Amino acid sequence: MNVQIMAHWSCGDCDVEGRDVAAEPTCWNCGGAVTVTARPAVPADLRPTDGAA
Ligand SMILES: [Zn+2]
Repeated sequence: MNVQIMAHWSCGDCDVEGRDVAAEPTCWNCGGAVTVTARPAVPADLRPTDGAA
């Protein structure tokens, strides 16, 4: 199966969260380093998007 890693992260400085397929995601708000909270594997052909189940 073709999968990719989706990093779930949170930024302590901004108190925001996000997710990114990047190995080392950065905060969309401040552009700084973030804390990765989970790295679930997701099917590469079923890319989750915000607002869509
Ligand atoms: Zn931030």
